[in-house]
Amino acid sequence: MALSISEACIACNACKLVCPSNAILTKSPHFQIAAHRCDECQSTAAVAQCASICPVENAILDANGIALNPTGSLAPISFNFNQPQFL
Ligand code: SF4
Ligand code: SF4
Repeated sequence: MALSISEACIACNACKLVCPSNAILTKSPHFQIAAHRCDECQSTAAVAQCASICPVENAILDANGIALNPTGSLAPISFNFNQPQFL
């Protein structure tokens, strides 16, 4: 079983940097996962590392084509540059 990358991918490279199996390929217009290398991180991590770091909803799909980060699952990033707050 392997994950795949959809057309939603913006080719940011983040997933490629964290994949422990070197399974992510730099392709245009969107990256791809080499299915024969991807074991869904089952041998190396508790969760799929690519999906954990991917900033784009619906970009990474499971073996059934279901998005691991579906619409609405990722918190939008907002920052007011005029009123920065440092905690
Ligand atoms: S699930 Fe794991 S092994 Fe598969 S592409 Fe993502 S990071 Fe790589
Ligand atoms: S982290 Fe997500 S958006 Fe970035 S290259 Fe990988 S699949 Fe595409």
